[in-house]
Amino acid sequence: MRRSCSSGSCASSGTYSMPPGGICACGELIVYLTSHTSENPGRHFWRCRNFKTPKDCGFFLWDEDVEVQSSGTQHVVDMVRTELKDSKNKLDELKKKLEDTKMKFEDTKMKLEESKNKISKLQRKLDCELLNKKMTFAAILSFVLAWVVSFCFLYGRKI
Ligand SMILES: [Zn+2]
Repeated sequence: MRRSCSSGSCASSGTYSMPPGGICACGELIVYLTSHTSENPGRHFWRCRNFKTPKDCGFFLWDEDVEVQSSGTQHVVDMVRTELKDSKNKLDELKKKLEDTKMKFEDTKMKLEESKNKISKLQRKLDCELLNKKMTFAAILSFVLAWVVSFCFLYGRKI
């Protein structure tokens, strides 16, 4: 019967050995993690991928306990570590791509902002021109009206 680690009592060492192929009882690849607890800060360990889920098989092993085991196991550890490194590299690549995309997005955003400014400037200019036209029309209209009124007035007086 395998002891469960969910209670946090995994501090004792040598409970488990590295499973063959780095696969725990769940049939899945175990994960390599770093402890962040006050008792074991920065200590590396191996744990079941399904930790804290109903599927958890309870596998747990401190990394330093792995070193004392057989070379065959060491190979598995190295393999999983390499895979971890690869994953990290891939993650870094993805991060870089994300950063690039972000920068491109910022660029597009800035261009969009510029276009927006240009459009609002044009809109203002158009509004201004429209207002000018309205004012000119109003001026002409009032001039004509004034002229007509004064003409009528003068003409009316003559009659
Ligand atoms: Zn498991």
